Amino acid sequence: MASGTPGAGGCTSSLMAARWTITISIVNIVEGFYMNFLMATPLKMSSITDPTRMGAKVDKWTLRFLSMAQSVARWSKDPSTRVGAVLVSPDRRIVIPGYNGLPRGIEDSTDRLLNREWKLRTILHAEHNAILTARQDVSGWTMYVTHHPCSNCSAVMVQSGIGAVHYIRDDAFEDKWRCSLETAGILFKEAGVHVEGHRLWMG
Ligand SMILES: [Zn+2]
Repeated sequence: MASGTPGAGGCTSSLMAARWTITISIVNIVEGFYMNFLMATPLKMSSITDPTRMGAKVDKWTLRFLSMAQSVARWSKDPSTRVGAVLVSPDRRIVIPGYNGLPRGIEDSTDRLLNREWKLRTILHAEHNAILTARQDVSGWTMYVTHHPCSNCSAVMVQSGIGAVHYIRDDAFEDKWRCSLETAGILFKEAGVHVEGHRLWMG
């Protein structure tokens, strides 16, 4: 996993700074403070600004494709993290799945998948797999993925001309891979890729 470079926005900034990609509507923030005031007790902003809990709507198609990505993730045999992605054309008529796994024709035995170092050197990530599967120009397409893309995938996506990324928020995952995700955020921002994280749990 790539490590960040101090001064280039690598691993030196805080976790909150790494989350610049998150879109939180003004309505939710206002409602959050209002609810906080009403209850006269400290509330966690992470829960009070949760779009699902506050009733704010995630776009219907975004929800559909993120749900599809979650289903695709189940196809992965990775014992640690199953990631699913769907790559969608601008008119939503082409939907291409991808999940993390070893290249086609390569034995994905349990021994190999449990060998962390070997797996990290050989596994293809969900987003990269979806782009490779597309076998066509995907400029302007949107990637829906179950986790925030890593730095390597972000580079591939930028080079492929992906126009937007929607992913499902996962605090534990984002903390674990913070350095890589910060780098991914820098690449996306410089390339003008729209990135949006969503919390989908029903709490
Ligand atoms: Zn990746």
